[in-house]
Amino acid sequence: MKFWLVTGSQHLYGKETLDKVAENVKIMTEKMNQSGIMQYPIVPAGVVTTPAEITDVMTRANNDTECGGVITFMHTFSPSKMWIDGLMKLQKPYCHFHTQFGREIPFDTIDMDFMNLYQSAHGDREHGYIGARLRMPRKVVVGYWQDKEVQQELAGFMAAAAGYRASRKMKVARFGDNMRYVAVTEGDKVQAQIAYGWDVSYYPLGDLCKEMEGVTDADVDRRFDEVTSVYTLATDNIESVKYQLKTEIALRRFLERGNFGAFTTDFEDLYGLRQLPGLACQLLMADGYGFAGEGDWKTAALTGIVKSMSVGRKGGTAFMEDYTYHMPESGAMVLGAHMLEVCPSIAATKPEIKVCPLGIGGKEPPARLIFDGSEGEAVCVSLIDIGGRMRMITQDVICQAPIRKMPNLPVASVMWKPLPDLRTAAKAWILAGGAHHTVLSFAVNAGIMSDFAEMTGTEIIRIGENTDIDELKKELRWNDIYYRLKN
Ligand code: MN
Repeated sequence: MKFWLVTGSQHLYGKETLDKVAENVKIMTEKMNQSGIMQYPIVPAGVVTTPAEITDVMTRANNDTECGGVITFMHTFSPSKMWIDGLMKLQKPYCHFHTQFGREIPFDTIDMDFMNLYQSAHGDREHGYIGARLRMPRKVVVGYWQDKEVQQELAGFMAAAAGYRASRKMKVARFGDNMRYVAVTEGDKVQAQIAYGWDVSYYPLGDLCKEMEGVTDADVDRRFDEVTSVYTLATDNIESVKYQLKTEIALRRFLERGNFGAFTTDFEDLYGLRQLPGLACQLLMADGYGFAGEGDWKTAALTGIVKSMSVGRKGGTAFMEDYTYHMPESGAMVLGAHMLEVCPSIAATKPEIKVCPLGIGGKEPPARLIFDGSEGEAVCVSLIDIGGRMRMITQDVICQAPIRKMPNLPVASVMWKPLPDLRTAAKAWILAGGAHHTVLSFAVNAGIMSDFAEMTGTEIIRIGENTDIDELKKELRWNDIYYRLKN
């Protein structure tokens, strides 16, 4: 994937100036690509000076499968009525990069030629107007192009655009339906396909069982050697481990053949399976597949998308669930986990393969990876169908090492302090209708999810350090009116 830098100008300045603009943009892109901050290259896509050129470059961006998004920058003035047709046709993520070639004013030599050449300060304002006038979904990045924070913001846009790209081709395989009576895992699949491009389809578990019949003992033995070379085998129940690996191989073949990016299971529907897939799901998530339990196709798709966003970035991403609280008088925390299926990409300790009874679903004890989660800043993301639209809710969290050992806990877990504090954060989450299922990621942040929400026209509620409950209640009411008028 590449990002196109489209530089705006006009003919009034003459060839010499336009050549200089192109030369400067070449220097900018080369230096930015060498900084090591951005995970995808930025390529100059030309200095455009006429409506026809602008429409042409935007149309080519739409059709270029490698183009992840368009970044615009007005090196000089570029009358923005020229941009209307092109911007209206643009279907890729769009970032307006407000910067200028030189960092400082050359006080001793500045003259009118300099002013003509380096006028982003007003050229980009003209460009910003037309973005606002067209109500374009867009990311605006402002600052000097060599500054770390500015490049990190561009990298964030790229991550969101990678998620957008993954979203538009996301296919989710649902084994079993949603857990009976659960509300928040439901949703409008047609709306999800329109808004995000998701193809969400049901497959009977018999399809998976049939796939498992084709997995040989030799296949399983080979996979057993691979998996036990990465993770610590901490059980004598090899039979159960191998059954999970057989399930994993079958799932993987099914997902690869159908080009699926995510899948769900449901412990209420395991007809023909001896165990709820645990280790199987964890190994597939570790390889980038989205997953969520209990038929939660929205969180499954979102897990896969956030994993796509995290390519080239540090930190893991996992399907997560707020499980239980630790509520001392100060410093209250959440213990997050799931029945089995926590992705080892967020592990701080070397995961151990263990076999324990499940206590739900009435099946054989399944193998699973057990580990402690990483420390550091992360975000929990939930996507809910609020009726007529989807709402994304993000929660900034600080993950911590477990404050004490939990020797009897038979699942991987992670502890975090939600910002600003548990009481405010959980109140805000509940008022906004956030789910118990989330995607927890150390690789992205609320800003990147906000960029993704912008690209997809999704309502976003961000909970973090500055959350104020009274303001949040107003935001929820006002959003309701805005989205009802908009849709
Ligand atoms: Mn669950």
